Amino acid sequence: MLGLMQDRPLLIQQIIEHAALNHGDTEIVSRRVEGDIHRYTYRDARTRARQVAEALIALGIHPGDRIGTLAWNGYRHFELYYGISGMGAVCHTINPRLFPEQIVYIVNHAEDRLLFVDLNLLPAVEKLLPQLKTVRHVVAMTDRAHLPAGLDIPNLLVYEELLHDKPGTYEWPEFDERTASSLCYTSGTTGNPKGVLYHHRSTVLHAYGSALPDTLGLSARSVVLPVVPMFHVNAWGLPYSGPLVGAKLVFPGPALDGASLYELFEKEGVVFTAGVPTVWLALLNHMRANNLRLSTLKYAVIGGSAAPPAMIEAFDKEFGVEVLHAWGMTEMSPLGTVNHPKARHAALSASELLEVRLKQGRPPFGVDMKIVDDSGKDLPRDGKAFGDLMVRGPWITSGYFKGEGGEALVDGWFPTGDVATLDPDGYMQITDRSKDVIKSGGEWISSIDLENAAMAHPAVAEAAVIGVAHSKWDERPLLIVHRKAGATVDKKELLEFLAGKVAKWWLPDDVQFVDAIPHTATGKILKTRLREDFKDYRLPTG
Ligand code: ADP
Repeated sequence: MLGLMQDRPLLIQQIIEHAALNHGDTEIVSRRVEGDIHRYTYRDARTRARQVAEALIALGIHPGDRIGTLAWNGYRHFELYYGISGMGAVCHTINPRLFPEQIVYIVNHAEDRLLFVDLNLLPAVEKLLPQLKTVRHVVAMTDRAHLPAGLDIPNLLVYEELLHDKPGTYEWPEFDERTASSLCYTSGTTGNPKGVLYHHRSTVLHAYGSALPDTLGLSARSVVLPVVPMFHVNAWGLPYSGPLVGAKLVFPGPALDGASLYELFEKEGVVFTAGVPTVWLALLNHMRANNLRLSTLKYAVIGGSAAPPAMIEAFDKEFGVEVLHAWGMTEMSPLGTVNHPKARHAALSASELLEVRLKQGRPPFGVDMKIVDDSGKDLPRDGKAFGDLMVRGPWITSGYFKGEGGEALVDGWFPTGDVATLDPDGYMQITDRSKDVIKSGGEWISSIDLENAAMAHPAVAEAAVIGVAHSKWDERPLLIVHRKAGATVDKKELLEFLAGKVAKWWLPDDVQFVDAIPHTATGKILKTRLREDFKDYRLPTG
């Protein structure tokens, strides 16, 4: 027997309507590419999102068409999220930090009809445009007055002019909740990028799941500043989960340096923020160098890469900010787990609690996880056994756009490519990316654990560990270190520092110093490059 409840589809446009009706005066504040601060309300954003939809229809855009954005976190990008998806088209966010040839590949693969581009990214697009086969118009996300002269972009349109004469009375259509809403390509450190195609239902459910108290814990009292870009898995869903609960949003634009972020945190009373470890490194250094304190910030989500323990402690002890360690993937919309301690953890000592916080966290309802061995057999959830992490749920991909990469699931589960443990309390801990684990004498060494231990040394700015071929042990760890400016720490001192912190047989066989550690376009350590850089390197131990 079927139940008798209403069958309303879950649609993204309902989120902005809800916010406008129930939190109409709540502000969205943006540092604009133009340099100034812009502020308006959810009510204003709703009207302009409708104008975006009206403008798209006037330009001949149809449901299902892909619309590219190359833009930072700001109110116009936010309007595009709702205007594009709300009229049934697909909002394709593109990471401007990708190599030009990757951007060309992605735009052509997605067959983007329009490209909405922030002011300072127009020159890059101008260069690529001849190779972008399907793009009919580029829309400069600014007004006429700010448009630089001399751009050679045929059919260039100006965002504010497009919206200007539109009534903003558009009535959002209702359609199947499985309609594609947005598209994000994984950064693809090897091979071509692959498109993850979200739908309305997955996006709304992800926003519900991620707002829960033990996930991101958002509410109408939250002031949220997503440092994580809107082109990096939809800023981890914050432009949806924020309005879903009526939180005030603060968008930092392109200025992600410590000084600019600090200023916005303080001026706007930011309570909650989220980003990858590299941006937090810059913020912490800026605050220390200038002896600054944070007066309102309570929570900082660290995700995208493992949160180093030294960073968790610095936020907590020096600045009174609680770190929420989180893990996810583009394929998971992205949220998989967030780390909140349980009540019984209150009894733990500071060092025991840090051990818990280093785990990637617990999944909200909606994310199922299991770990399996090489033959696909389930491994125990005892916090010790580690294996390939598999996930499934309503906001996890079932396959890539246009079938790229073949079958994405194994018996209905998505293999994450991460190696992890699960414990009886539900906490997951990543030991490595499966392609980064170091196999020494048949045993696995976790590069993340070694990096964390090295990063706790005060002279280390950043550390990476890769496996290097070894005649006896197959592979042994090599520690690659970027020293802090002026620091003189050497190999002997670092190895002595690590001894006792990690198992003896995990100690790196050598330490090499570099001027910088390479990163991917989303801020992860680019291990493929390091392996390439050190391909002729031979360990002193053989
Ligand atoms: P990108 O974020 O570069 O677009 P992905 O979505 O592929 O690319 O990144 C997901 C991967 O990032 C995860 O599979 C995991 O390896 C890594 N990752 C994300 N968060 C964490 C974390 N908190 N700790 C360790 N690794 C993480």
